[in-house]
Amino acid sequence: MTVSAIIVAAGRGSRLGGDIPKQYQMLSGRPVLEHTIHSFLASDQVTEVIVVTNPRDEALYAPIATSISDIRLKPAVQGGNNRTASVRNGLQAATGDYVAIHDGARPLVPLDALDRVFEQARKTGAAFLALPVTDAVWQVTDGKAATALPRDAIWRAQTPQVFDRRAILEAHINHDGPADDDVAIAVAAGLNVLPVRGSQRNLKITFAEDLTLAEQQLGTPMDIRTGNGFDVHKFGEGDHVVLCGLKIPHDRGLVGHSDADVAMHAVTDALFGAIAEGDIGQWFPPSDPQWKGAASEVFLRKAVERVAARGFRISNIDCTLICEAPKIGPNSVQMRRNLAAITGVSEDRVAVKATTSEKLGFTGRQEGIAAQASVLICTS
Ligand code: MG
Repeated sequence: MTVSAIIVAAGRGSRLGGDIPKQYQMLSGRPVLEHTIHSFLASDQVTEVIVVTNPRDEALYAPIATSISDIRLKPAVQGGNNRTASVRNGLQAATGDYVAIHDGARPLVPLDALDRVFEQARKTGAAFLALPVTDAVWQVTDGKAATALPRDAIWRAQTPQVFDRRAILEAHINHDGPADDDVAIAVAAGLNVLPVRGSQRNLKITFAEDLTLAEQQLGTPMDIRTGNGFDVHKFGEGDHVVLCGLKIPHDRGLVGHSDADVAMHAVTDALFGAIAEGDIGQWFPPSDPQWKGAASEVFLRKAVERVAARGFRISNIDCTLICEAPKIGPNSVQMRRNLAAITGVSEDRVAVKATTSEKLGFTGRQEGIAAQASVLICTS
């Protein structure tokens, strides 16, 4: 089954206010129509997307088309004098077995609703998204409630409306004058068109408040933050160093109040930095005797806990050690594993790498080890 999406976006949409058509107004930072196009590109059953535009909107549509690199988005088709004529122009450009005719001002049609309506159309040749009416429905005459209508029999039509391409093209060619929608044209041609449960999310932007509703549907944008940390510890007496929780034999140890795990300190500070909650020294003052000789894992666990408490998850960790010795490479697998276990981040998102400073500076003179770390955290 191949589906051509025909997105009708040639209308002027004057009810919304503002001086540009509603399908080009901004919704969460992107034009409404751009959201609509992406909703269809999200379905792998859609083999082409044909947008029907008004030539007067060329300057508004061009940047949208340029921003989308998917080859399924075909060159825009010019609209007609009314919606019906615009749809007909789209139909003449379509090549799929089926066509899904959709309003450009319905930006949020969910993928599962598309799946449902495509499935029904494949079985019966014609289907459309719709919602059953749950409120009482009254026919109003002369400003007064006159007749209660049987709401069980009433559905509110949404789009897409999906048809066998050849059948609806023929129905359009034989139809005279405008119509409310394409179901009307199909029914007039004697086709059986089945309603398929749509979605409240699939709202049509008509009034200014619809844009606000759609913004709410899209939810809060993801919060993405980075953090970086840097630490140095000097060499002193000892026979090992602890790096990322791994005890590595060496002819000297690192000096520090805790276990002097310079790498873990840098990662910990990167996490505190990402949430702007101070640094490791503020959370665990060197003057506090309880941290003497402490395993630095305690510090890292606190930072991980604070990141989670702020509603973030850690996307990745990248830590670089700067030293001439000991050799980091042979130990990096276990070091990554340790960081992954403490932070709950999968190992393929944790990097531990090393560089020398070409025998320059304090690390080059092997007076100590420096470490720096970057992290990325996000809200979902
Ligand atoms: Mg430190």
